[in-house]
Amino acid sequence: MGFIITFKKTQKILLLMIYDCVIIGRGPAGLSAAIYLARANKKVLVIGKENKIWKNEVNINNYFGIGEITGKLLMEKGEAQAKSFGTEILNSLVTKISVDEKGLFNCLANSKEFTSKKLLIATGSSAAKKEIINQEDFIGRGVSFCVPCDGFFFKNKKVIVIGNGEYALEEAIELLNYTNDVTLVSNGKKLSFDKKLLDDKEIKFEEFIIEKIIGEKKVEGIKTNKEELKIDGIFIASGNADSNDLARMLGLLVENNKIIVNSEMKTNLSGVFAAGDCTPGFGQIATAVAKGAVAGLTISKEI
Ligand SMILES: Cc1cc2nc3c(=O)[nH]c(=O)nc-3n(C[C@H](O)[C@H](O)[C@H](O)COP(=O)(O)OP(=O)(O)OC[C@H]3O[C@@H](n4cnc5c(N)ncnc54)[C@H](O)[C@@H]3O)c2cc1C
Repeated sequence: MGFIITFKKTQKILLLMIYDCVIIGRGPAGLSAAIYLARANKKVLVIGKENKIWKNEVNINNYFGIGEITGKLLMEKGEAQAKSFGTEILNSLVTKISVDEKGLFNCLANSKEFTSKKLLIATGSSAAKKEIINQEDFIGRGVSFCVPCDGFFFKNKKVIVIGNGEYALEEAIELLNYTNDVTLVSNGKKLSFDKKLLDDKEIKFEEFIIEKIIGEKKVEGIKTNKEELKIDGIFIASGNADSNDLARMLGLLVENNKIIVNSEMKTNLSGVFAAGDCTPGFGQIATAVAKGAVAGLTISKEI
């Protein structure tokens, strides 16, 4: 655990909590890593939501030594164990991650920033996001999945962000650093947040469905179920930020939608680790728990 003392204009002293490790993902991998870290007296925060296996209807009968158990009960037991060693849990989703000049990691969740020395991504499996039928033809030619990576190339251009959740909102807000002409398009879905948040930032909103991208060598426009529109760029930010999106924000190596790690669960970026179904290999509770344990041990040794 550590504290930074900063002086603001008001001369007040702010104490900033720095976690030893923030773990993104509240599944078997993230909670298993938390058990190893918290048991070794590290200050740990796990951020995530209850996902598909946190249910009474899911029966698990292939996890070593347990016999038959519901997914809900297994996960509740795992989380209680992590908490018993001092792990903090935040029931939320991370919409943005970054690394600062001191090598500390910042995660944005619930509109708050959480700072840590190490970062573990354990966000489960993710698939490539498909929003528009011909989007593949325009990747790198006007279609992007990452504002921090590609926003710069759209200075003063007309851009849209596709998505209906807080992740899309964060991406749209970040785009305002490059251009004032930003429209969030929900592609036929209802917004999952208050539209006032867009209005306050002067981000336009459209609910129409995009049928296809128009353009010869690059994005020139879109055909929607209502009209044709001229635009220069499209950022796809549907659903929540999955492991692919988080990896892009930090420049991590990804192959076939899996974050590449070594045998100690280290990614290509110092201080960042990944474990569980977001990494290559057999995706099961047993393997996620094992990879989480390895990550927890490696991180603990580095702190
Ligand atoms: C219905 C079902 C039945 C299954 N049955 C079995 C079985 O019988 N035996 C077995 O071994 N395996 C089973 N599996 C597979 C098993 O559940 C997975 O292999 C395992 O859960 C992977 O663990 P994980 O921790 O890597 O990821 P997950 O369990 O997928 O957890 C991912 C976590 O990341 C969080 N997350 C994602 N994005 C973000 C974000 N942006 N910010 C914060 N948090 C985020 C999620 O909220 C979640 O908490 C089943 C899976 C399903 C869906």
